[in-house]
Amino acid sequence: MPLQQRIEEVDRRIKEACGRSGRSREEVNVIAVTKYVSLDTTLKALENGCAHLGENRWQDAQAKWEAVSGDNRQWAGPQPVWHFIGSLQTNKVKEVIGKFTYIHSLDRLSLAKEISRRAEKLGLTVPCFIQVNVSGEESKHGLAPESLHEFASELVSYSGLRPVGLMTMAPHSGDPETARPVFKRLREIQEELNEKAILPLPLTELSMGMSGDFEVAVEEGATWIRLGTILVGKEEE
Ligand SMILES: *Cc1c(COP(=O)(O)O)cnc(C)c1O
Repeated sequence: MPLQQRIEEVDRRIKEACGRSGRSREEVNVIAVTKYVSLDTTLKALENGCAHLGENRWQDAQAKWEAVSGDNRQWAGPQPVWHFIGSLQTNKVKEVIGKFTYIHSLDRLSLAKEISRRAEKLGLTVPCFIQVNVSGEESKHGLAPESLHEFASELVSYSGLRPVGLMTMAPHSGDPETARPVFKRLREIQEELNEKAILPLPLTELSMGMSGDFEVAVEEGATWIRLGTILVGKEEE
């Protein structure tokens, strides 16, 4: 299916999920995850109006970032907003800050410290999602829900970043319904943090939902969905 058609199809499914859950389409932002595709496909996604791009490894993102947003860019259209969605090594923070607007994978204080330090140097405040391992799978990154209050309360010391929401990844499975309790729980955790006013500002964002489970995520309150395969596709190396 051509890209334009896939984008329209995904949009239609988001609208339907919004309709089922009484939400407005404007509450849901789509991040086109380009980690599996070439620069060419990334440029096509931009031409087709994708305004948010997501990558999960700096090594893989660098060439695309340079071509789209670097000083010698070959993309002349409107600049996308870049989202760093993968686990972030502390020594890669210096590459990412100033290039990626959002970081979705804040999962430890040492990372918060480095993001904040690098951001302050550039005069930036980086909006971050705290990654939560709701499902408790060992393979998943993110903080255990039990340690979130303490973690969040410590973030106030890092003025170069601003926590805006929570992010999670649901377990892989053929059935999107297995993701529902995970997404529901993430929203409850967000509400608990906000009720207790653990952070100076309430968390407004939920980054959850991928190709296999985005409709369920929208029904459960996602404000950012991260779509790779279903939207821009997956190309062989
Ligand atoms: C790869 C990736 C996605 C997109 O995955 P698809 O299933 O292809 O949509 C979303 N979020 C994260 C964190 C990823 O690493």
